[in-house]
Amino acid sequence: MRQILHLDLDAFFASVEELLNPQLKDKPLIVAMGNPNGRGVVSTASYAARKFGVHSAMPLREAVRLCPQAIIVPVRHGVYSEHSRRVMNLLREISPLVEQVSIDECYVEIPPDRDAAQLGQEMQQRIKTELGLDCTIALATNKLVSKIACSAVKPRGWVAVPPGHEAAFLAPLAIEKLPGAGKVTRAKLARWNVRTIGDLARVPVEELRKEFGKNGGWLHQAALGQDDSPIVTEWKPKSVSQENTFDRDTRNAAAIEKNLVEMSARVAHELAREGYRARTIVLKLRYGDFTTVTRQVTLAAPTADAAAIGDCAQRLLRTHWNKSRPIRLIGVGAHNLIETSSARQLSFSEG
Ligand SMILES: [Mg+2]
Repeated sequence: MRQILHLDLDAFFASVEELLNPQLKDKPLIVAMGNPNGRGVVSTASYAARKFGVHSAMPLREAVRLCPQAIIVPVRHGVYSEHSRRVMNLLREISPLVEQVSIDECYVEIPPDRDAAQLGQEMQQRIKTELGLDCTIALATNKLVSKIACSAVKPRGWVAVPPGHEAAFLAPLAIEKLPGAGKVTRAKLARWNVRTIGDLARVPVEELRKEFGKNGGWLHQAALGQDDSPIVTEWKPKSVSQENTFDRDTRNAAAIEKNLVEMSARVAHELAREGYRARTIVLKLRYGDFTTVTRQVTLAAPTADAAAIGDCAQRLLRTHWNKSRPIRLIGVGAHNLIETSSARQLSFSEG
């Protein structure tokens, strides 16, 4: 029987800002990217700000309208990366099997001969007292169930799903809680009146296979709380990308460019959130006849800036799109990633 802990730091960027400036404590706080009067976006909102309906990825203008008294501070990735590293190092003292999945989230596998419930609660306590940060931890027999359980008890939560009770634990939860059941999947599941994970577990697996192919089998197992994916240590993203298939093949340059700019902003958001900058920007074009071209440009200086990524992507589009051919799919990717903090060190040592 495996013992997997999923740990998620609560409102991480906002919590670090509060830690460094205690006057911000318990006030509605927004850590933002960009300008509040321009195209700024909420990166993280403190729980005091979330009470007003503010959430991550919301346009800053809307957040300010919902919560005019909010204190807004700019993201500081170098600072958050440092705190993230401290958390991960503390966890590695307890178990070497740490899989970091993002700046504020990880899995830890605990060997079968050790008391995982005790270790999990000890981690939570030490992260609070030694590093000043709140987190939520869930213990389960696999990664999938521990992740879902963790999100169900945030913030400052602790939960242990006993072996054998995975399906029963998941059953009452909304289907939205299942990672991998995205919008399109959920729309299709409406046919069987699936509202909870338990509803999904009752749909015959053959029917799911007919509708979703191989994925149908996965959905069935996931709904029962079964997952055997391993812990992968030293995880690093190789690239971040977004793509979009148009409802209809199109030659409408304005619409295509608008889409490209939006996707670039999402790529930039994800890069910044994970503390990376990209050296290479890639444009992917698929024409109506399914021929696909990818073109890339390598930048003089790595970036996580939405406007810079958008400019590159648009330039690539203008240069390489054969305008007589309608486009079916377009994508933008950021490759050749480097960590933001090491980028800083590099420029210091160069200077
Ligand atoms: Mg978090």
